[in-house]
Amino acid sequence: MRKSIRAVCGCTLAVVAGQAVGQLSHPLFPQPWEAGADPIVACNLPEQFVPRSLWNANLWPSGIVHYEFDPAVTAQNRSRTRIAMNEIETFCGVRFVPRTTEVAYVYVQNGTGNNSFVGRTGGRQVLNMVSWSSRYIIIHEFMHALGIWHEQQRNDRETFVTIVTANIQAGFGGNFTIRNTATPFGAFDFESVMLYDDCSFSTCCPAGSTCGCSLSCATILAQPAFAGQQNLMGNRSYMSQGDKDGLVSRYGAPMDDSFEENDGLTGAVALPIRTPVELRLIDAGDFFTMPIAVAGAISAELSAGEWAGTNVTLALLSPTNAVLRSAQPTDPDGDGVFVATVSTTGAAGTYKLRVTKTQPWGGDYTLTANGTCDDVDFNNNGVFPEDQDVVDFFSVLAGASCGACNDIDFNNNLVFPEDADVTAFINTLAGGGCP
Ligand SMILES: [Zn+2]
Repeated sequence: MRKSIRAVCGCTLAVVAGQAVGQLSHPLFPQPWEAGADPIVACNLPEQFVPRSLWNANLWPSGIVHYEFDPAVTAQNRSRTRIAMNEIETFCGVRFVPRTTEVAYVYVQNGTGNNSFVGRTGGRQVLNMVSWSSRYIIIHEFMHALGIWHEQQRNDRETFVTIVTANIQAGFGGNFTIRNTATPFGAFDFESVMLYDDCSFSTCCPAGSTCGCSLSCATILAQPAFAGQQNLMGNRSYMSQGDKDGLVSRYGAPMDDSFEENDGLTGAVALPIRTPVELRLIDAGDFFTMPIAVAGAISAELSAGEWAGTNVTLALLSPTNAVLRSAQPTDPDGDGVFVATVSTTGAAGTYKLRVTKTQPWGGDYTLTANGTCDDVDFNNNGVFPEDQDVVDFFSVLAGASCGACNDIDFNNNLVFPEDADVTAFINTLAGGGCP
């Protein structure tokens, strides 16, 4: 529950383009000019939009936010960013999509502080990150990009908190300026990731030191009626309910995958065999059926991409829904793509696949169902069946290199080469056997 901010409350020296060298900046919070650009587009919001946050009007149409990484951003930090994006996407109708040629997009780069424009500027808008290891600071900056100001800048804040001007470091008062042009609604949210820590920019936190925040040092004091919430301020450990409600008020409910009806075993939909399907998991789990016509091996692979391994599990279920095999994605070759495979030999019937998320947030994944055997286009030249498929099959069986052809585990039972592979190939070539 308690924020983890204060323990690392040392101040750092920031050198920022356009700023005087040597100004102090809170290491975990934005520069004073964080929200310096304030491109407000006139927009009459419908009555039903009831944000619990402090919103600009310049939102992203349809919730689609294009983004691009600066080449210097490491693979690890890209992955961290993608996970933060996934978490936002899980709770509201926003999609973060890699930019191709779009004019309006968020350009994510390494910075000396964390900062972002507020809302959509209509062009290339820089988002600077330095606190890459904190998912909720990344989320904080992207919530700025989505149009949200700091909670302490609401024009109704005085009911809830007092800003202690005397404790604010010289030159940093701008972080506490009320934004009358933005729209607050609902109760002030002490738990919001958009609310500063109660000692942010405090004079009690001199450069280069670690500090403990006492009430006498605080720059934000809860009003007596809310004193019990003093220690909630500065939460960077989870998105509050108010953060989620605010996002939904502007961007709508989360977007699920294209198989809306596959959220339960009873509504499981058929997965096409040997066709990778790109999916999106928002609810607790996705369910699919894999009907096979003949006895044999079936398997399925899940590729989780940047939605890293421990976030999801893949299970193969029997026709009676018993779990036959389950697996968590792993990244054995270290290329950032996590893969899980489940397989079994079984009788004909309708098997099921279950993809379950193991974290509160969802993400995108690719699922491929393998049938009981490969197709007869063994050499994958698009022409089949042809004599060359047969020639190539037996050549590879005899030890020749495969190139673009299928592997010789033709029946996909993970045992090869074996007589059954040859039999299955010939049977399928003759027109039967393979679903
Ligand atoms: Zn901020």
